[in-house]
Amino acid sequence: MDHDVIVVGTRAGGAATAMLLARAGLRVLAVDRARFPSDTLSTHQVQVPGIARLSRWGLLDPIAAVTPAVPVVRLDAGPGAALEGRYPAVDGVGALYGPRRTVLDAALVDAARAAGAEVREGFAVEELTRDTEGRVTGIRGRRRGEGRGRGPSAGTALVAETARLVVGADGKRSTIADAVGATAYHVRQPATFACYTYWSGVDLPIGEIHVRPGLTVPAFPTNDGLTMIAIFAPLADFERFRADPAAGYLAALDRCGDLGDRVRDGVRAEPYRMAPDVPNGFRAAHGPGWALVGDSGVVMDPVAGQGISNAFRDADLLAAAIVEGLDHGGLDDALAGYQRRRDAAALPVYGMTRSFATLRVSLAQRLLIAAIADDPAESSRFLGVLAGAARYDDYLRPANVLGRLAGGVTRRLRRPVGKCVDQPAVLG
Ligand SMILES: Cc1cc2nc3c(=O)[nH]c(=O)nc-3n(C[C@H](O)[C@H](O)[C@H](O)COP(=O)(O)OP(=O)(O)OC[C@H]3O[C@@H](n4cnc5c(N)ncnc54)[C@H](O)[C@@H]3O)c2cc1C
Repeated sequence: MDHDVIVVGTRAGGAATAMLLARAGLRVLAVDRARFPSDTLSTHQVQVPGIARLSRWGLLDPIAAVTPAVPVVRLDAGPGAALEGRYPAVDGVGALYGPRRTVLDAALVDAARAAGAEVREGFAVEELTRDTEGRVTGIRGRRRGEGRGRGPSAGTALVAETARLVVGADGKRSTIADAVGATAYHVRQPATFACYTYWSGVDLPIGEIHVRPGLTVPAFPTNDGLTMIAIFAPLADFERFRADPAAGYLAALDRCGDLGDRVRDGVRAEPYRMAPDVPNGFRAAHGPGWALVGDSGVVMDPVAGQGISNAFRDADLLAAAIVEGLDHGGLDDALAGYQRRRDAAALPVYGMTRSFATLRVSLAQRLLIAAIADDPAESSRFLGVLAGAARYDDYLRPANVLGRLAGGVTRRLRRPVGKCVDQPAVLG
């Protein structure tokens, strides 16, 4: 075998996996048809647990040097249901960051290379190779711009590479998952579409998440002094929306307090990007000679902004399983453990994400937000839940919700007359 592991795709899931495997001393080839730095169709809030992983991997400092930290966020679910608070710290990290994918993915690719992985950019995998028993043994692919077609290098041969394991980290429309016929489960219909762009000169000192019936709008600072603002709306409205994205986008922001006015004070820095392709589901994480990580294995609606953190988590889990399996024999058993751990970790996040993708906030949720808005510790705990640092289904257990509602009522009754606080507490 030429390599211990070949990783196909080198963004959030693939580059992180390649880096971790190379750091563990394995011979790793990682390929991507893209070149880096390059953008991809994705907003890029990395939730606090994902940032904590970047920090543990030693990658946060260079990213934080060019990307604003967002320790405070305002969650606004409409009149009377808004709170503002600090993200709780995870492993000592207490902020979300929203690095552009040009910054984040390039940092991961550099780290994989620095760890000793061979990273081949501009290389597209076309097929897998197998032994006589059907076990995957490697890939065939070619440099982009070469081979097939009528270009100057047409006719260039496919390059073959072999490995003990091929990891598909090639995204939600994974070639590797299709080639191995990975079983799909927990599949749910797409529910939303996204449209986002970047603005300069918008007054937005903290992160903001606005939720209205049929609409979710995250607004976060990012690199180069820009603000990323996305809208998530029902997929059923996409055809109408795409006829005039600028009008639809600004009309959506006008439903979010003064956000539309603040945006009109700024200047749009980039085109509108639209993403109507948002599948939801799991695929089997492994089989003979192959494994999947990132969106190729578990993909969920981007409305909750969990995909990158999920990919980092699964890279950690998969790399540990591969190292254990190759060191001690029993790779298939180790990968079965990876699938169990991945699914156990991903399912609660998937449940929360599906709930957000309905683009509905129940009366109970609005009352909950109103009840905890003047309690900084509880607001922070709730924001940690939204960030994926604690379980949403646990937090929304009726007993907990009733307790928070009762706490809110008690605090209001204890408040001295004349000290009515209508606005959410602003934390400094
Ligand atoms: C509109 C939108 C907004 C989002 N916003 C957020 C957010 O705010 N926060 C968040 O955490 N997540 C967000 N996500 C989700 C996030 O983009 C994904 O979860 C994340 O990119 C998954 O990383 P990945 O490495 O698995 O796959 P990808 O990032 O899709 O990378 C796959 C790579 O594989 C390569 N590849 C594919 N096929 C081949 C092949 N045959 N040969 C070689 N290379 C190949 C591609 O070139 C690509 O570079 C959003 C997604 C969308 C669509």
